[in-house]
Amino acid sequence: MDVAELVRALAADGEGPATIEARHTVPARPAAFAPFPEWLHPGLRQALEARGILSLYSHQRRAADLLAEGRSVVVATPTASGKSLCYLIPVLDRLFRLGADARALFLFPTKALSRDQMDEVEEILKACGRSDLVVAVYDGDTPPATRRALREAGQVVITNPHMLHTGILPNHTKWQGLFTGLHYVVVDEVHTLSGVYGSHTANVLRRLRRIAAHYGARPSFCLCSATISNPGEHARRLVELPVEVVDEDGSARGAKHYLFLNPKVLSEAQGLRVPAVDVARQIGARLVASDLQTIFFTRSRVTMEVLLKYLRDEARRRNVDQERVMGYRGGYLPELRRRVERDLASGRVTSVVSTSALELGIDIGSLDVCVLVGYPGTVSSTFQRAGRVGRRQRESAVLFVARGFAMDQYLIRNPGYLFDQPREAVAIDPDNPIILANHVKCAAFELPFEQAPGENAGFGQAKWIREVLDFLTDDLKLLVREGGRYHYGAPTFPADGVSLTAADMDNVVIQDLDSRKVLAEIDRPSAIVEVYEGAIYGHQGDQYLVERFDYADRRAFVKRVDVDYYTEADTETEVRVLHVDESVPYPAYVAHRGEVEVTTLAKAFKKIRFYTRENVGADEIHLPPETYLTEAATLALDPALAQQVGLDKGSDAGGLRGVAELIQGLVPLFVRVDPGDVGVLAELRHPHFERPTLTIFDRIPDGVGLSERIFLVHRDVLRAALGLVERCPCRMGCPACIGPSPDQGLRGKALARAVLQGMLQEAPGRDPTRRTGAG
Ligand SMILES: [Zn+2]
Repeated sequence: MDVAELVRALAADGEGPATIEARHTVPARPAAFAPFPEWLHPGLRQALEARGILSLYSHQRRAADLLAEGRSVVVATPTASGKSLCYLIPVLDRLFRLGADARALFLFPTKALSRDQMDEVEEILKACGRSDLVVAVYDGDTPPATRRALREAGQVVITNPHMLHTGILPNHTKWQGLFTGLHYVVVDEVHTLSGVYGSHTANVLRRLRRIAAHYGARPSFCLCSATISNPGEHARRLVELPVEVVDEDGSARGAKHYLFLNPKVLSEAQGLRVPAVDVARQIGARLVASDLQTIFFTRSRVTMEVLLKYLRDEARRRNVDQERVMGYRGGYLPELRRRVERDLASGRVTSVVSTSALELGIDIGSLDVCVLVGYPGTVSSTFQRAGRVGRRQRESAVLFVARGFAMDQYLIRNPGYLFDQPREAVAIDPDNPIILANHVKCAAFELPFEQAPGENAGFGQAKWIREVLDFLTDDLKLLVREGGRYHYGAPTFPADGVSLTAADMDNVVIQDLDSRKVLAEIDRPSAIVEVYEGAIYGHQGDQYLVERFDYADRRAFVKRVDVDYYTEADTETEVRVLHVDESVPYPAYVAHRGEVEVTTLAKAFKKIRFYTRENVGADEIHLPPETYLTEAATLALDPALAQQVGLDKGSDAGGLRGVAELIQGLVPLFVRVDPGDVGVLAELRHPHFERPTLTIFDRIPDGVGLSERIFLVHRDVLRAALGLVERCPCRMGCPACIGPSPDQGLRGKALARAVLQGMLQEAPGRDPTRRTGAG
């Protein structure tokens, strides 16, 4: 079977579990080549030619030229377009010419990608006979003996943001050679540097540039990204330098067929469909014995394991070697992951079921069919995953199998969303006060801050740097003013206490009562809804019962259990307005943006049986409320609209809750966030604005700029919500639109629709996008 036959078979299968609701074909395209640059070192050119690379793609040439001139570049082209040559050519060329005096630092998000990159560089160096150049990975797995040699001689040091933060920058005196000769810094997969993690990493890069400047180096940066809508803006925020954007992909591409499969409806009124995983299983059954190499992407670890079992059962039924079907996810041991990567590349494995773990650029060769079991959550992720197939100018297929949820059903009805619209923007906020203060503390440990410096104390474009220094000195007593400088004056090692993955350092530790081992950490706001006493905590496929939650000491004690249910807490959330920073009036409502205080209280929890989702019990939770400050956008409805649609009666709150549900489901399509990063609250009478409101708030303490972005695009979200509710075939609401109908009341769907229609009306002759300030 080839890809064209598969596509024909799926289209002809009227009896199958899903219907093809839309198709889209991206036609084949020849490569745009460019000759090697004149400046290229002849030895390097020979080595590339020996590897069969006789010319470059146009984007590789452009990026290489810019980097060789000393400029910084962001390369935003699809998976498998040959991004690494963009920087390897100028970096290795510089190393060839300058020898031991030139150094480069590569930052990769995972150990696997670091090792992949090291192998690639070593192969090129071997082909040139340049054994004098040292390339090495520096991470948690690097043996201490190697570390020392690497610090002194490593010309290409490959590491990750975390090691740079805790290992290299605080010990910069031992890395003098690296910093003095630092010509290039490569940062890979920068689209993953979003939100809190991205904001931390931007500060680590501020510290890196500050240390490099101390040793007299001004490195050029090469940032690599998946295709996002704002690569230039994102790159400039990350490195605070002028950055050229290279996003014209010159690589060759075979035709790629996208099929949008909607599982058949089981119950029209309740909006129930055949589960996406069952559809994926039936597609897999066709493919498991064929020569087409297929990758299945699931949204969760549990779904991944279930689908893997199904596909192995299919293989057994067909007398196919079960080793041809493998799973892949973060929790597996590294050796097993390496094996699957190798066997995929060699063709030994023909079907792989993966979580997002295979989305990043680890080389697994060229596959033929990608099955997306549910929408990956963002357009960028979708194309990263789709980029796993069709590398060698061969025809390929991407099968999107929708789930019943709003996001997936929206995409089934609006496939153009993936192809016609700009990709998501990546948002970071390096000046988030908590994140900034943490890194200023680390930076002060590395080098004292001058009290009367030029250029913002050498800390990039950081805002309020002076206030942060004074706060760390006067309030926290961590720094000392001395001789016109701020010195680090505490006995602690600050980088150890700063984790790059959460703004709130006050994490709860989850500890196994039997082994006494720490299983995981969880941030405090999540802890009260996940590790209360009686909760079931899932970890690497096992279930643990929370026996005791020591709230004061931030410790949850768990015990391994074998149960057939999981738990879900019911929470109440209040959002109190502290001040309003901006207000924009629209014909039927006013949009406000400002600082809020969010209070969450968990009161009770339900026990829910796996697979059937039966409710098998309930209990109370006894925990104090969790409070944090953050940012929010509030849409306050005019009383006239509320009255017109009948929102004045308390019993009709379901309609407004339905709108909140729609917004919650659709926001990830417009702002690159995880659905859990943003909360949406509907209130019939808001205590501050005294009218019906929809409040969209940043779930990350102190905010990371999400609600600001939502404030700007909220009308697009409302339009999408209206389109979805108008086209949803259910009668009174379903999981694909306003949520299950019993929750939102009999009139819920009609009311939600009326509210959205009212909010979206445009006043003639008035420009609704014009802004007015308000206090
Ligand atoms: Zn519906």
